[in-house]
Amino acid sequence: LMDLYMPLNWFGTYYRAIQKNFVDMENMFELLREEEEIVDAPGSAPLLTAGGGIEFNNVTFGYSPEKMVLRNVSFTVPAGKTVAIVGPSGAGKSTIMRLLFRFYDVQMGAISIDGQNIKLVQQQSLRKAIGVVPQDTVLFNNTIYYNIEYAKIGSSADAVYEAARSADIHERILGFPESYETKVGERGLRLSGGEKQRVAIARTLLKSPIIVLLDEATSALDTHTERNIQAALARVCTNRTTIIVAHRLSTIIHADEILVLKEGNIVERGSHEQLLQRDNGIYADMWQQQLENLDSEQNLAENTDPT
Ligand code: ATP
Repeated sequence: LMDLYMPLNWFGTYYRAIQKNFVDMENMFELLREEEEIVDAPGSAPLLTAGGGIEFNNVTFGYSPEKMVLRNVSFTVPAGKTVAIVGPSGAGKSTIMRLLFRFYDVQMGAISIDGQNIKLVQQQSLRKAIGVVPQDTVLFNNTIYYNIEYAKIGSSADAVYEAARSADIHERILGFPESYETKVGERGLRLSGGEKQRVAIARTLLKSPIIVLLDEATSALDTHTERNIQAALARVCTNRTTIIVAHRLSTIIHADEILVLKEGNIVERGSHEQLLQRDNGIYADMWQQQLENLDSEQNLAENTDPT
């Protein structure tokens, strides 16, 4: 009997890990259908996407009734635009992403995409419309080819290569021992943080969703890698409605709007320039701090430079 229960427990644990970390959950839902707490509303229709415009209207949400994590959060991301969310750890940034993907239903208010409440559309269609570039991408113990193709099984090889090229990882893959047939993951070739992120970008490019959610890695990629990855990230966001959870403010200077989230409330909002001009602004303060950190890093690098 115990043996019979084992896999279910394992799925449950894994499902919760996925919910929490946004790790490759998109295709996992097939496998984990039994575990889903969120179900399609009776008679729900597929999401009809136009430009992928997003609206959060007075959203209040808590993982448990005692503790609200988001309070009256309202914002819009017009079709094709980019909104960035910043704020201290635990402010609720990732929760906003999870709600948009409908891992949970909101307690009050509504989230809609192109005017349709996401509670009332078929989940499969919702998740098809949204691509996620997570903080940390989990790779399957399979070929690098499969790891990219899995975003859209049955894609042509040309489409897979093209996605890899746009993510700036094609050349690197050609240098792997068995090129695209090289096994990666825990039991294969280990990829660096930057490479894994490029795989996530390639997947999203192949999936070609109307909406992209980008959860920037907290652990800093080194500055050189980071600069190189910016171009690939910019490509994945082009012509898509984008929400970025950012830790490094330098990545979001050009966002159409920046939301500063603190303890579940939006406390400041505006463009980078507008937020910098605020007296005693939280964003302005964060910006100042990051500049100082950058300065001291550079000093450190200069002082330890052997040349
Ligand atoms: P970080 O920058 O550290 O990633 P964040 O702003 O993304 O933080 P969230 O992950 O959205 O923060 O978490 C907001 C709050 O909700 C935190 O207090 C967190 O502990 C809590 N929380 C997150 N996930 C769950 C969960 N599955 N169950 C209960 N509480 C949770």
